[in-house]
Order: sequence, then C-alpha cells, then structure tokens
Amino acid sequence: IQSKLPEVGTTIFTVMSALANEHGAINLSQGFPDYPCDAGLLDALNRAAQAGYNQYAPMAGLPALRAAIAAKLALQHGISVDAETEITVTAGATQALFTAIATVLHAGDEAILLDPSYDSYAPSILAQGAKPVHIALSAPDFAVDWALVEAAVTPHTRLILINNPNNPSTSVFSSADLDALAAIAERHDLLVLADEVYEHLVFDGQQHHSVLAHPALRARSFATYSFGKTFHATGWKIGYCVAPAALTSEFRKIHQFLVFAVNSPAQHAIAAHLAEPAHWQGLSAFFQRKRDLLAPGLQAAGFTLLPSAGTYFQLADYSAIRDDLDDVAFARWLCIEHGVASIPVSVFYRQAPAQKLVRFCFAKQEQTLQAASERLQVLH
Ligand code: PMP
Ligand code: GLN
Repeated sequence: IQSKLPEVGTTIFTVMSALANEHGAINLSQGFPDYPCDAGLLDALNRAAQAGYNQYAPMAGLPALRAAIAAKLALQHGISVDAETEITVTAGATQALFTAIATVLHAGDEAILLDPSYDSYAPSILAQGAKPVHIALSAPDFAVDWALVEAAVTPHTRLILINNPNNPSTSVFSSADLDALAAIAERHDLLVLADEVYEHLVFDGQQHHSVLAHPALRARSFATYSFGKTFHATGWKIGYCVAPAALTSEFRKIHQFLVFAVNSPAQHAIAAHLAEPAHWQGLSAFFQRKRDLLAPGLQAAGFTLLPSAGTYFQLADYSAIRDDLDDVAFARWLCIEHGVASIPVSVFYRQAPAQKLVRFCFAKQEQTLQAASERLQVLH
C-alpha cells in the first residue's frame, strides 16, 4: 500500500501515555482528568441506558442535545443558532475537525495552520491531498502576526485553522485578533475552522472570544467543541460542530458516512446535564487552582514556566535542568528516570522552536500534582 501519510507516526499522546504506563510514571502528558466526572452525569448515563436508549441516535445528533447546545450558546453569547440546521453532534472534537477539513478541502487546496498546532490538524489536511501551510506564532508570547498569515494566502488557500485557547501554547485570542482574522478571511474569501474545545478554561479574569459571537466570522466558520473537556469525560468522545446551514449541510454529507451517528445513551446524559449552566460555568476557577498548585513544584525543580493563560496545560522550559537534550529525549528521560510524563512541544511544530519546552497537564487530583512535584524535586 502506498501510504497517504508517509511522514506521520503514532500520535505523541499514545506514545507518552504508553511510556508512562510502562514505567509507572505519573502521567502529566496526554490531557485527561484523573478524577471522576460528576455523579449526576453518570446517573444520567445509567438512566438513559436502562431506559432503552441503546439504538442509533439521529444522524445529526439527538434533538434534545442539539436544543440544549443551542440554549447554552444563547446564554453564553446571546446568539441564536438553529439546532436543526447548524449543529451536528460528533464523536469528539477530533471527528468534528476531520469532518470539517474533509468538507472544505479538495486535493491541491491549502489550509493555513498556526504553529504550535494540535497534532491532528496537519494529518487531517494531508489525508485530503491538501497542503498544510504552517505559520509559527511569535516567540516568546505566542502572539499571531496577522500580516504573516495574510502573506501566506495564495490562490489555493481555502481555510484558516485556529485553536483558541491554544493547546499547547495556552495563548488566548483578543477581540482584535478575531477582527484581524475576519478581515483576512473576508478579503480572500476563506473559511475558518475554529477549535474552541478549551472555551471554558481561560484564566486570570480573561475572556474567551468565540468566532460564534463575531458576526463576520460566524458567517464563515466551523466551530468545534468537546464534552470531554467540559464534563471531564474525555473517554466519552462526544463533541459538536456549529456552522451556518449551508456549511453544515455539506459537513453532514461526510459525517453520515464517517460515523453515521454517535453514542446514543451518552447524548441523552449530556443533554440532561448541559441544561444546568452551573455544570459548565466555573471551570476556569477550578482549573486555575490546579495550575497554581503545580507551578511552584515545577519552578522549585528548576523549570522556567511560561504563562498559562488558558487550557489545562503548563509549558515549562527545561534548559536549566538538561540543556544537552532535545525535548523528545528530555520527555523520555523525565518519564523513565524520574517518573513524570510530559509532552515534548516540538511535535506541534513543522519547524521545531529554539526554546526547549515540555507540556504538563494539570487536570489532575491535588494528590497527583503534589506527588509529581515531589518526584521532580531531585532535579534541582
Ligand atoms: N482539539 C484540541 C486542541 C485538543 O486539545 C483536543 C484533545 N482533547 C481535541 C481537539 C480533541 O478533542 P476530543 O477528545 O473531543 O476528540
Ligand atoms: N487533546 C489531548 C492532549 O492534548 C489528547 C487527546 C488525544 O490523546 N488524542 O493531550
């Protein structure tokens, strides 16, 4: 067989979690909580399964869940989204992203990515026979140079991908960023794919600015979300995509033959849980506490921390600890020799950055974060 993705190996999240398991390391690599999700959500899942909701859900998603998503968006952004024609429930954000990319890109098209970029984006583009065009965010603050983005637009460009808040840089867009993006998209008639899975994880009093609340972007964007993040249930793999009706109609043509429909009892459970705003508000404070719990231990161990503005990740410069190692070697060494797993940041880049960085996930119980800190204290 001729590989469609000759340069793509196994995702770093699988690699590092396997290494952590093999060596009994505390796993701060792949992003997932190690504490239980809300008991009410589990009860709702159990009730849905017992009530017999165990057959196919409607292709676009359970109507009750799409209605609950529309109600959430109305409350959150004061916008009106048509649950019937503009929302599709997906098998996590990963499938929403892949489907949106497959919907838009033809062979030979180009899509602009901002590096560091989440690891599924470029392979999803390449699988369409399209070309990812990587623009690096500026160092050290990970700001977007929109003039550079516009300079990368060619007659083949169809799509700009953004991830706000950004995994792994943690940076959060300002409203001026969205205005600049909208101006470029309008000038060159481009579509936008906005990965907003960390919309509720924004720290230090900052605001999340969604493309859905920006009328010019709303008209030309696919926006993707994940209940795995919002409800601490990454294993459920339920997310959704919001896009104008004309885009959603094309999106569903692909969606119906990728998965047809997604897990039915989980959709029932999430529909019930989502209806209560307290279940998705207050996440920023919850995770900011965890961020602030992990940080002193990393600093005391000799890491230099970059600001963590959003997401549940912390970037750390390890050059004062092992300047001789590249980030992949450092992450392996830290996992095998010191029992703490992290993610090397160069995997999110086309062109590895100069700074020596690893990413730690702090979506963990306090005792896990403390145990990791203790293990790291031998480093300094
Ligand atoms: N986008 C980003 C930026 C992510 O960090 C993740 C990982 N959780 C996803 C998409 C995928 O989300 P899901 O697990 O819902 O497929
Ligand atoms: N999004 C998670 C992370 O960044 C991982 C998801 C996955 O393993 N595919 O760590």
